[in-house]
Amino acid sequence: MTDTEVDLFVVGAGSGGVRAARIAASYGAKVMVAEEYRVGGTCVIRGCVPKKLLVYASRFRDDFEDAAGFGWSLSSPSFDWSALIANKDAEIARLEGLYRSGLERAGVTIMQARAELADAHTVIVQPGNRRVTARVILVATGGRPQAPSAQGAGHAITSNEAFHLESLPKSIMIVGGGYIAVEFAGIFNGLGVETTLLYRGPKILRGFDEELRDGLTEELLKRGIDVVCNAEIATIDKSWAHYNVTLKDGSKVETGRVMFATGRAPNTRGLGLEAAGVALGEKGEIKVDAYSRSSAENIYAVGDVTDRVNLTPVAIREGHAFADTVFGGRPVAVDHELVPTAVFSTPEIGTVGMPEHKAREKYPRLDIYKARFRPLKHTLSQRDERMLMKLLVDAESDRVVGCHVLGADAAEMAQMAAIAMRLGARKVDFDATMALHPTAAEELVTMREKWIPPTAKPAAAKPTPAEARSRKQG
Ligand SMILES: Cc1cc2nc3c(=O)[nH]c(=O)nc-3n(C[C@H](O)[C@H](O)[C@H](O)COP(=O)(O)OP(=O)(O)OC[C@H]3O[C@@H](n4cnc5c(N)ncnc54)[C@H](O)[C@@H]3O)c2cc1C
Repeated sequence: MTDTEVDLFVVGAGSGGVRAARIAASYGAKVMVAEEYRVGGTCVIRGCVPKKLLVYASRFRDDFEDAAGFGWSLSSPSFDWSALIANKDAEIARLEGLYRSGLERAGVTIMQARAELADAHTVIVQPGNRRVTARVILVATGGRPQAPSAQGAGHAITSNEAFHLESLPKSIMIVGGGYIAVEFAGIFNGLGVETTLLYRGPKILRGFDEELRDGLTEELLKRGIDVVCNAEIATIDKSWAHYNVTLKDGSKVETGRVMFATGRAPNTRGLGLEAAGVALGEKGEIKVDAYSRSSAENIYAVGDVTDRVNLTPVAIREGHAFADTVFGGRPVAVDHELVPTAVFSTPEIGTVGMPEHKAREKYPRLDIYKARFRPLKHTLSQRDERMLMKLLVDAESDRVVGCHVLGADAAEMAQMAAIAMRLGARKVDFDATMALHPTAAEELVTMREKWIPPTAKPAAAKPTPAEARSRKQG
């Protein structure tokens, strides 16, 4: 047992921990970081990055099908899951190396180890039972998949294992209705796996704008994903070749795999936080103030372990702000408003600001603009897929308070819209912005007519197709 003293000990080398360690070191702090699995954390190793690579892989199916309408003829393409996984793993290893060398170049000591707190200033590092004394401790341990307590739940995989399946099953049942469940349903469906998405609630993607939820459900069904809502698993039994699932209503389903994507819990178990005087919330998350300080004066926490907005860029921003505040002499509080977010389903969702139901609560007079249309590409591909765009405007200030897109490249659009909305863009600013033609995104700056609920619309107000065309051109 060796005693080491550091200015900052970071538990967890994920998105938040790595950024905090690097920036604190750049301010001259002596920094040590412990990582029990792989440097880079969830996002790089088994989250955003490998997920997006699999999403890309799954979308080639559409490209091959759509190509015919543009004159291409392809001999029947084949797909090799093990080649995809090997290439993905090589890229992840490369990124892990970059994260590691970034830390080393900054002078941070990396411990390939699990760390637990003995008290507010002492960390025990395992294996080796090494004791480290730290002036400041940052907990950046992220989250872990949570599984429901169905009998036989141990037979199911989570997103962690989905990235390493030895082979693709013929069919899969994905349990959950959040973005990870929906994204994996798209991945497996695109790769030719018969996919069921089973969700206990009435509609997938709770918290998102209702029209995005309905619109995406419709598109997933068209693609052959069996979206089953108001259903829950009771038991899972394994036979030699497949899994027999019994639902709570007694119905039985046979499937090649079961995957749970039923939420994530903050990683605070067994960390010794109580002994160090760190207060936890109901879900086990570390409670922090605007500067990410916990109830213990010298212990801070950033990222998913605090269960604020569980996204990589947010964890990075919180880690950076922590380092600026504590080691850079410049207090920075992270603004969690207007965080753009995406669901990398196929088609995808990009969204920033409030969904309609929230905006209605906040703004007494809300104007809604929306467009539902077939994108130009699909006039020739003949794909039966429609795009949805929706702007929510506070009629009082004319500020755009919600921007929601369902369709190809929606995530890229949401990122750009977020800049405008952060600058306080009003609907007149969107209108005054020149359209970029021909794009789908131009619809966001050419929506002129407020949407009127069908019941409130006087019969005479419905424009003829010719009127509608001329209004649009005007
Ligand atoms: C499948 C999936 C897809 C996702 N897709 C997106 C996306 O598209 N966009 C997006 O913005 N976000 C996405 N996320 C969320 C994103 O990955 C997280 O918000 C982000 O990684 C949080 O960063 P963090 O630093 O809080 O924790 P993490 O990145 O989870 O890092 C925590 C690290 O701490 C380590 N650790 C835990 N306990 C200990 C201990 N006691 N000692 C030492 N080390 C420990 C863990 O091994 C881990 O490496 C996705 C997540 C998942 C699971």
